[in-house]
Amino acid sequence: MIKKRINVLGVGFDDLDMEEAAAAAMTLMERKNSAYVVTPNPEIVMLCRENAELSKAVREASLVLPDGIGIIYGAKILGTPLKQKTPGIDFAQKLFGLMSEKQMSVFLLGAKPGVAEMAEKNLKARYKGLRFVGTNDGYFTDDAPVIRKINAASPDLLMVCLGAPKQELWMQKNAPMLKTGLMAGLGGSLDVFAGVAERAPEKWQKLGLEWLYRLKSEPSRAGRMKSLPKYVFAVIGQRIKNK
Ligand code: UDP
Repeated sequence: MIKKRINVLGVGFDDLDMEEAAAAAMTLMERKNSAYVVTPNPEIVMLCRENAELSKAVREASLVLPDGIGIIYGAKILGTPLKQKTPGIDFAQKLFGLMSEKQMSVFLLGAKPGVAEMAEKNLKARYKGLRFVGTNDGYFTDDAPVIRKINAASPDLLMVCLGAPKQELWMQKNAPMLKTGLMAGLGGSLDVFAGVAERAPEKWQKLGLEWLYRLKSEPSRAGRMKSLPKYVFAVIGQRIKNK
Protein backbone atom coordinates (compact mmCIF):
# COMPACT_ATOMS: atom_id res chain seq x y z
CA MET A 1 0.00 0.00 0.00
CA ILE A 2 2.74 2.40 0.99
CA LYS A 3 5.86 1.11 -0.68
CA LYS A 4 6.92 -1.95 -2.56
CA ARG A 5 5.94 -5.12 -0.78
CA ILE A 6 8.50 -7.64 0.44
CA ASN A 7 8.16 -10.91 -1.42
CA VAL A 8 8.10 -14.12 0.60
CA LEU A 9 7.59 -17.04 -1.82
CA GLY A 10 5.24 -15.04 -4.01
CA VAL A 11 3.26 -13.28 -1.26
CA GLY A 12 3.99 -9.57 -0.86
CA PHE A 13 4.12 -8.25 2.72
CA ASP A 14 3.93 -4.61 3.82
CA ASP A 15 7.04 -3.73 5.82
CA LEU A 16 5.46 -1.96 8.77
CA ASP A 17 5.95 -2.16 12.51
CA MET A 18 2.90 -2.37 14.75
CA GLU A 19 2.55 1.42 15.14
CA GLU A 20 2.79 2.00 11.39
CA ALA A 21 0.41 -0.86 10.59
CA ALA A 22 -2.19 0.48 13.01
CA ALA A 23 -1.81 4.03 11.66
CA ALA A 24 -2.25 2.76 8.09
CA ALA A 25 -5.34 0.81 9.16
CA MET A 26 -6.87 3.88 10.82
CA THR A 27 -6.37 5.88 7.62
CA LEU A 28 -8.04 3.14 5.59
CA MET A 29 -10.89 2.97 8.11
CA GLU A 30 -11.54 6.67 7.75
CA ARG A 31 -11.71 6.33 3.96
CA LYS A 32 -14.69 3.99 4.42
CA ASN A 33 -14.39 1.88 1.31
CA SER A 34 -14.38 -1.62 2.79
CA ALA A 35 -10.69 -2.18 2.18
CA TYR A 36 -9.33 -5.22 3.97
CA VAL A 37 -6.33 -6.40 5.96
CA VAL A 38 -4.89 -9.92 5.92
CA THR A 39 -2.25 -11.45 8.19
CA PRO A 40 -0.85 -14.53 6.43
CA ASN A 41 1.28 -17.15 8.17
CA PRO A 42 3.54 -19.72 6.42
CA GLU A 43 0.58 -22.07 5.98
CA ILE A 44 -1.27 -19.43 3.97
CA VAL A 45 1.82 -18.53 1.96
CA MET A 46 2.09 -22.21 0.95
CA LEU A 47 -1.64 -22.34 0.12
CA CYS A 48 -1.31 -19.21 -2.07
CA ARG A 49 1.22 -21.08 -4.20
CA GLU A 50 -1.38 -23.61 -5.24
CA ASN A 51 -4.57 -21.55 -5.03
CA ALA A 52 -4.71 -18.65 -7.50
CA GLU A 53 -7.97 -17.32 -6.07
CA LEU A 54 -6.50 -17.08 -2.58
CA SER A 55 -3.32 -15.57 -3.93
CA LYS A 56 -5.43 -12.86 -5.64
CA ALA A 57 -7.45 -12.22 -2.46
CA VAL A 58 -4.23 -11.69 -0.49
CA ARG A 59 -2.66 -9.52 -3.20
CA GLU A 60 -5.73 -7.28 -3.35
CA ALA A 61 -5.69 -6.63 0.40
CA SER A 62 -4.80 -3.05 1.30
CA LEU A 63 -2.55 -4.28 4.08
CA VAL A 64 -0.68 -7.60 4.22
CA LEU A 65 0.91 -8.11 7.63
CA PRO A 66 3.19 -10.96 8.78
CA ASP A 67 1.25 -12.95 11.37
CA GLY A 68 4.18 -14.65 13.00
CA ILE A 69 7.79 -15.51 13.35
CA GLY A 70 7.81 -17.92 10.38
CA ILE A 71 7.33 -15.08 7.90
CA ILE A 72 9.91 -12.93 9.68
CA TYR A 73 12.53 -15.71 9.46
CA GLY A 74 11.55 -16.42 5.85
CA ALA A 75 12.04 -12.78 4.83
CA LYS A 76 15.36 -12.64 6.68
CA ILE A 77 16.70 -15.80 5.03
CA LEU A 78 15.65 -14.40 1.65
CA GLY A 79 17.77 -11.32 2.33
CA THR A 80 14.84 -8.89 2.53
CA PRO A 81 14.04 -8.63 6.26
CA LEU A 82 10.73 -7.31 7.53
CA LYS A 83 10.66 -4.94 10.52
CA GLN A 84 8.43 -6.85 12.91
CA LYS A 85 5.84 -9.56 13.24
CA THR A 86 2.35 -8.12 13.68
CA PRO A 87 0.17 -11.00 14.89
CA GLY A 88 -3.49 -10.48 14.07
CA ILE A 89 -4.59 -10.58 17.68
CA ASP A 90 -2.07 -7.93 18.80
CA PHE A 91 -2.96 -5.85 15.79
CA ALA A 92 -6.66 -6.05 16.72
CA GLN A 93 -5.93 -4.92 20.28
CA LYS A 94 -3.84 -2.02 19.05
CA LEU A 95 -6.68 -0.94 16.76
CA PHE A 96 -9.29 -1.28 19.52
CA GLY A 97 -7.22 1.06 21.70
CA LEU A 98 -7.02 3.71 18.98
CA MET A 99 -10.66 3.28 17.97
CA SER A 100 -11.78 3.50 21.58
CA GLU A 101 -10.31 7.01 21.86
CA LYS A 102 -12.46 8.07 18.90
CA GLN A 103 -15.65 6.21 19.90
CA MET A 104 -15.49 4.19 16.69
CA SER A 105 -17.57 1.09 16.03
CA VAL A 106 -16.86 -2.60 15.50
CA PHE A 107 -18.90 -5.57 14.26
CA LEU A 108 -17.71 -9.06 15.29
CA LEU A 109 -18.26 -11.72 12.62
CA GLY A 110 -17.22 -15.33 13.02
CA ALA A 111 -16.64 -18.28 15.38
CA LYS A 112 -19.21 -20.68 16.80
CA PRO A 113 -22.64 -19.37 17.88
CA GLY A 114 -22.39 -17.42 21.14
CA VAL A 115 -18.63 -16.81 20.96
CA ALA A 116 -18.78 -13.33 19.38
CA GLU A 117 -21.21 -12.23 22.12
CA MET A 118 -18.83 -13.46 24.81
CA ALA A 119 -15.95 -11.70 23.11
CA GLU A 120 -18.03 -8.51 22.96
CA LYS A 121 -18.75 -8.68 26.69
CA ASN A 122 -15.06 -9.06 27.55
CA LEU A 123 -13.90 -6.39 25.11
CA LYS A 124 -16.55 -3.91 26.30
CA ALA A 125 -15.08 -4.04 29.77
CA ARG A 126 -11.59 -3.33 28.41
CA TYR A 127 -12.22 -0.71 25.73
CA LYS A 128 -14.68 1.77 27.18
CA GLY A 129 -15.00 4.03 24.14
CA LEU A 130 -15.41 1.28 21.56
CA ARG A 131 -18.96 0.89 20.21
CA PHE A 132 -20.14 -2.65 19.52
CA VAL A 133 -22.70 -2.54 16.73
CA GLY A 134 -23.32 -6.20 15.96
CA THR A 135 -22.29 -9.83 16.04
CA ASN A 136 -22.87 -12.88 13.85
CA ASP A 137 -21.50 -16.38 14.10
CA GLY A 138 -19.31 -17.74 11.30
CA TYR A 139 -21.35 -20.78 10.30
CA PHE A 140 -23.89 -19.15 7.95
CA THR A 141 -24.61 -20.58 4.52
CA ASP A 142 -26.19 -17.55 2.89
CA ASP A 143 -24.10 -14.37 2.69
CA ALA A 144 -26.96 -12.00 1.78
CA PRO A 145 -28.71 -11.67 5.19
CA VAL A 146 -25.35 -11.34 6.95
CA ILE A 147 -24.28 -8.59 4.55
CA ARG A 148 -27.59 -6.80 5.13
CA LYS A 149 -27.07 -6.97 8.89
CA ILE A 150 -23.52 -5.63 8.62
CA ASN A 151 -24.54 -2.84 6.25
CA ALA A 152 -27.37 -1.76 8.54
CA ALA A 153 -24.78 -1.37 11.31
CA SER A 154 -22.17 0.15 8.96
CA PRO A 155 -19.23 -0.43 11.33
CA ASP A 156 -15.88 1.35 11.20
CA LEU A 157 -14.22 -2.06 11.61
CA LEU A 158 -15.56 -5.47 10.63
CA MET A 159 -13.65 -8.30 12.27
CA VAL A 160 -13.88 -11.30 9.95
CA CYS A 161 -12.94 -14.40 11.95
CA LEU A 162 -13.90 -17.31 9.70
CA GLY A 163 -10.49 -19.02 9.70
CA ALA A 164 -8.05 -18.98 6.82
CA PRO A 165 -8.44 -19.17 3.84
CA LYS A 166 -12.22 -18.77 4.13
CA GLN A 167 -12.02 -15.25 5.59
CA GLU A 168 -9.61 -13.92 2.94
CA LEU A 169 -11.81 -15.25 0.12
CA TRP A 170 -14.97 -13.95 1.83
CA MET A 171 -13.60 -10.42 2.23
CA GLN A 172 -12.35 -10.22 -1.34
CA LYS A 173 -15.63 -11.52 -2.78
CA ASN A 174 -17.95 -9.39 -0.64
CA ALA A 175 -16.01 -6.13 -0.35
CA PRO A 176 -17.98 -4.46 -3.18
CA MET A 177 -21.28 -5.22 -1.41
CA LEU A 178 -20.22 -4.17 2.09
CA LYS A 179 -20.50 -0.80 3.81
CA THR A 180 -17.71 -0.80 6.34
CA GLY A 181 -14.69 1.33 7.13
CA LEU A 182 -12.21 -1.52 7.05
CA MET A 183 -12.30 -5.30 7.38
CA ALA A 184 -9.69 -7.44 9.07
CA GLY A 185 -9.32 -11.21 8.68
CA LEU A 186 -8.34 -12.32 12.17
CA GLY A 187 -8.73 -16.10 12.37
CA GLY A 188 -9.26 -17.44 15.86
CA SER A 189 -9.12 -14.04 17.65
CA LEU A 190 -12.74 -14.08 18.75
CA ASP A 191 -12.16 -17.41 20.49
CA VAL A 192 -9.28 -15.83 22.41
CA PHE A 193 -11.20 -12.65 23.29
CA ALA A 194 -14.16 -14.78 24.38
CA GLY A 195 -11.88 -16.86 26.58
CA VAL A 196 -12.74 -20.14 24.81
CA ALA A 197 -9.23 -20.54 23.38
CA GLU A 198 -6.06 -19.77 25.22
CA ARG A 199 -3.14 -17.86 23.79
CA ALA A 200 0.43 -19.01 24.39
CA PRO A 201 2.03 -17.53 27.54
CA GLU A 202 4.12 -14.44 26.87
CA LYS A 203 7.40 -16.34 27.35
CA TRP A 204 6.50 -18.66 24.47
CA GLN A 205 5.39 -15.69 22.34
CA LYS A 206 8.69 -13.89 22.96
CA LEU A 207 10.66 -16.98 21.94
CA GLY A 208 8.68 -17.13 18.70
CA LEU A 209 7.15 -20.45 19.74
CA GLU A 210 3.47 -19.52 19.76
CA TRP A 211 2.86 -22.04 16.97
CA LEU A 212 4.46 -24.84 19.04
CA TYR A 213 2.33 -24.00 22.05
CA ARG A 214 -0.75 -24.12 19.84
CA LEU A 215 0.27 -27.53 18.58
CA LYS A 216 0.71 -28.69 22.17
CA SER A 217 -2.77 -27.48 23.20
CA GLU A 218 -4.54 -28.44 19.96
CA PRO A 219 -2.76 -31.56 18.60
CA SER A 220 -5.43 -31.78 15.89
CA ARG A 221 -3.64 -28.88 14.16
CA ALA A 222 -0.72 -31.19 13.30
CA GLY A 223 -2.27 -32.01 9.91
CA ARG A 224 -2.48 -28.34 8.97
CA MET A 225 1.08 -27.74 10.11
CA LYS A 226 2.45 -30.27 7.64
CA SER A 227 3.10 -27.37 5.31
CA LEU A 228 5.64 -25.83 7.72
CA PRO A 229 8.65 -28.00 6.77
CA LYS A 230 7.70 -27.52 3.11
CA TYR A 231 7.76 -23.76 3.74
CA VAL A 232 11.23 -23.95 5.28
CA PHE A 233 12.58 -25.95 2.32
CA ALA A 234 10.93 -23.62 -0.17
CA VAL A 235 12.50 -20.57 1.51
CA ILE A 236 15.94 -22.18 1.50
CA GLY A 237 15.46 -23.26 -2.13
CA GLN A 238 14.49 -19.72 -3.10
CA ARG A 239 17.50 -18.30 -1.26
CA ILE A 240 19.83 -20.62 -3.20
CA LYS A 241 18.15 -19.62 -6.50
CA ASN A 242 18.49 -15.90 -5.66
CA LYS A 243 22.24 -16.18 -5.11
N1 UDP B 1 -14.79 -20.51 11.75
C1 UDP B 1 -15.96 -19.91 11.36
N2 UDP B 1 -16.61 -20.42 10.27
C2 UDP B 1 -16.15 -21.47 9.56
C3 UDP B 1 -14.93 -22.07 9.96
C4 UDP B 1 -14.27 -21.55 11.05
O1 UDP B 1 -16.41 -18.96 11.97
O2 UDP B 1 -16.80 -21.86 8.59
C5 UDP B 1 -14.11 -19.98 12.93
C6 UDP B 1 -13.76 -20.97 14.00
O3 UDP B 1 -14.89 -21.20 14.83
C7 UDP B 1 -12.64 -20.26 14.70
C8 UDP B 1 -11.95 -19.50 13.57
O4 UDP B 1 -12.88 -19.46 12.51
O5 UDP B 1 -13.16 -19.32 15.62
C9 UDP B 1 -10.70 -20.16 13.03
O6 UDP B 1 -9.87 -20.44 14.02
P1 UDP B 1 -8.42 -21.01 13.77
O7 UDP B 1 -7.80 -21.08 15.11
O8 UDP B 1 -8.48 -22.24 12.94
O9 UDP B 1 -7.81 -19.79 12.99
P2 UDP B 1 -6.69 -19.69 11.90
O10 UDP B 1 -5.60 -20.63 12.30
O11 UDP B 1 -7.34 -20.04 10.61
O12 UDP B 1 -6.31 -18.26 11.99
